Amino acid sequence: ATMPPLLAAVALAGRQGVLVKSALMMERLAEIDRAAFDKTGTLTTGRPEVERIVAFEVDETRLRRLTAGAESRSEHPIGRVLADLDDFADATEFQAMPGRGVRAVVDGVEVLVGHPILLDSAAAGADDDAKARETVGEFETEGLTVAVVIADKRPIGVIGLSDTVRPDAAHAITALTVQLGTDPRILTGDHSAAACRVAEAVGIRDVEAALLPGDKADRLAGTRTLYIGDGINDAPALAASHVGAAMGGTASDLALQSADMVLVGRRLTALPAAIDLARKARRVAR
Ligand code: ADP
Ligand code: MG
Repeated sequence: ATMPPLLAAVALAGRQGVLVKSALMMERLAEIDRAAFDKTGTLTTGRPEVERIVAFEVDETRLRRLTAGAESRSEHPIGRVLADLDDFADATEFQAMPGRGVRAVVDGVEVLVGHPILLDSAAAGADDDAKARETVGEFETEGLTVAVVIADKRPIGVIGLSDTVRPDAAHAITALTVQLGTDPRILTGDHSAAACRVAEAVGIRDVEAALLPGDKADRLAGTRTLYIGDGINDAPALAASHVGAAMGGTASDLALQSADMVLVGRRLTALPAAIDLARKARRVAR
């Protein structure tokens, strides 16, 4: 007996580096009419670089140690880079806050690292609060992704990072725009200046920034959108989308589980190719 066309397409896609989890998902892939992307780790390489470090109250060595310790068990691309700021730091009571950052105890100190919104959880009127907010604004204007560091409820540092766009992102965006006849979107937890910098580099005009994990899912529910993401923060969006795709290699376990397909080969151009395969298989199946 010959293999059913949708199942044959699953096998073929697999050989091209795209793991589609079922024939049903291959069928849904043929119905997609729009694509939406997470930014950090999906349109970008997932290996951002630390560009700026400013320490308050503590010296930079201490800031690096507390930051790296708090992020030592992080799965987030920003967290993994910050974990490398000190090779020996470690933490207890590690806790990820999806879309926001991490909380852990390092050298007996409670440390929070992540989105500038965490400054709201620092002690009211903390000495360096105004300085920290000013530095955040400065880094954001430069288009950097910003992480703040809070120790025992006091801001002790601000770190600015820059992302590198994946080399095949612009090509994949063009192909998807032509194929689907709709503009792809970016849905990100990062701030809008950093999001717009990446959007411009890859040719996306539709950007929604500063979204929490649940906000991303709200934007996708009830649509026929293919969502591509990599983080714990993307799990709700991957589940709510018509088809959810996780970026292989760097994706968190939760993203891999929540996704309907995995880009094992980590090539974004595999997306339009897989949609093409799915559409052809559905035509044969009918
Ligand atoms: P994206 O949607 O672009 O992948 P996320 O939702 O993962 O972004 O994260 C949103 C923001 O939260 C990041 O831009 C960063 O400021 C912050 N953040 C999240 N996790 C961490 C972490 N582990 N360490 C530092 N910052 C983090
Ligand atoms: Mg991400």
